[in-house]
Amino acid sequence: MTNPTQSKIGKPRVIILGAGPAGLAAAHTLTRSGQAEVTVIERAAQAGGNSASFTIEGVTCDYGSHRFHPAAEPEVLADVKELLGDDLLLRPRHGRIRLGGKWIHFPLKLTDALMRLPKPFALSLIGDMVLKPFRKKPTGAETFSTVLYNGLGPTISNHFYFPYVRKLWGLEPEKLAVTLAERRVGSGSVGKIVMKMLRLMPGLRSETGGRFFYPRKGFGQISAAMQESARSNGAEFLFNTEITKITRDGTRITGVTIRDGDSEKQLTGDLILSTIPLTGLTRLIDQPPAKVVEAARAIRFRGMILLYLVLETDQFTEFDAHYFPEASIPISRMSEPKNYSASSEPKGITVLCAELPCDPGEKWWDMSDEELGREFTGWLGQLNLPVTVPVRRCETRRLSHAYPVYDIEFQSRVDVVDEWLLGLDGLLVFGRQGLFAHDNTHHAFAMAYGAADCIDAKGQVDRDKWRRYREVFATHIVED
Ligand SMILES: Cc1cc2nc3c(=O)[nH]c(=O)nc-3n(C[C@H](O)[C@H](O)[C@H](O)COP(=O)(O)OP(=O)(O)OC[C@H]3O[C@@H](n4cnc5c(N)ncnc54)[C@H](O)[C@@H]3O)c2cc1C
Repeated sequence: MTNPTQSKIGKPRVIILGAGPAGLAAAHTLTRSGQAEVTVIERAAQAGGNSASFTIEGVTCDYGSHRFHPAAEPEVLADVKELLGDDLLLRPRHGRIRLGGKWIHFPLKLTDALMRLPKPFALSLIGDMVLKPFRKKPTGAETFSTVLYNGLGPTISNHFYFPYVRKLWGLEPEKLAVTLAERRVGSGSVGKIVMKMLRLMPGLRSETGGRFFYPRKGFGQISAAMQESARSNGAEFLFNTEITKITRDGTRITGVTIRDGDSEKQLTGDLILSTIPLTGLTRLIDQPPAKVVEAARAIRFRGMILLYLVLETDQFTEFDAHYFPEASIPISRMSEPKNYSASSEPKGITVLCAELPCDPGEKWWDMSDEELGREFTGWLGQLNLPVTVPVRRCETRRLSHAYPVYDIEFQSRVDVVDEWLLGLDGLLVFGRQGLFAHDNTHHAFAMAYGAADCIDAKGQVDRDKWRRYREVFATHIVED
């Protein structure tokens, strides 16, 4: 952008779109260093995006199971530790996955898996390992399906990954791109899965192996602490604020228009950092080229309904999360928020949170909370987890942008939009929604820190440096 409004104290003025982890981390780092004057524009009423927390009947809940992973970049982890102090707990992972009708500890533990896996399933897995060198490779273009099948074999592909991805993305594994396997499936062979299990055994385990960080007051406490840091260092936050237009003059972004009551207000600055979905961003910018509009229209995000079942009991199970790969149960995961921070408060109440991948228009999307609550208790019964305590009620939240959909054509479409956005002066795009990246919260923080590192004292972006950062971001692997 041009600089008609360079701040009175000579710092560049930066406008950040979106107050999720990516936008907050950018505001936090830019104001802490005194590098810029910052205004954050957020459509929602609160900060934190998909990583926020809220309370239901006194129980702190997240938007589905959220853990802060020890794999975070050292700078990011150090910052989060400093911001949260003693409130950042290091907790053992204690989940279960249903495989072949049996509950197995998750993350997988070698002895538990050996003892509990149904015999035919275990034998079939061993068979896959032995026969791997002789397995006929599928012909044709590589997809998520071929890569998984070659690497992990038919048993784990057919019983775990394939039904799970059908549920998560609503697409057949053959319709999903290889990128999904690269980004989401860290262990590409049965051997690697076994090695991962070995590394969790006592004596071989690192201090954080099989553990995760979790804030005492919910995952959203991390975002809240970043927001508070930015606010106390002078950042301005505009919540409940709708962006109506982003103006440009050729390849130069000139300002952001927001709704202000019945009228509109124009904000100008030196640079816009956008962390909102790249599809929405493209719609807001003045007249993108037709091929960009067309590509953006075809890019899809997967939605999700989160069902919160309030039960009148202290605790439903001892587990933090249950994973359901099987096709017959529409939910992909269920968590019990109180178990994440080992909280015993409030007494006599617990909440179960189910993740139901679903897009607007699908049958679940328009169901009432009562109907979804009844479905949820029914699924629990099917899973041999009957609800025998009084159900107080069910509450829901709907996420329109839960997961980027990596279908076969996604990369070419994202490239068209991304290249155009990269060519606009005065604009830098990042974050999970901005880069259509299947990333964790710590990755969103790392992107924000990278972006801040590319901005000079006049608010200009070092584009070469940014391209190098982008190459690093492309190597992020999602932690589950
Ligand atoms: C079910 C689920 C479980 C997850 N579990 C984990 C986990 O265990 N660990 C982990 O590290 N990560 C997890 N994640 C990922 C994590 O939620 C994201 O990585 C993180 O929230 C991304 O931050 P972001 O700021 O890039 O995007 P978001 O959190 O999506 O924030 C984007 C912000 O932009 C705002 N916005 C959008 N459009 C506009 C607009 N037009 N104008 C103004 N504002 C706008 C939104 O309201 C939102 O506040 C999970 C995600 C999901 C869906």
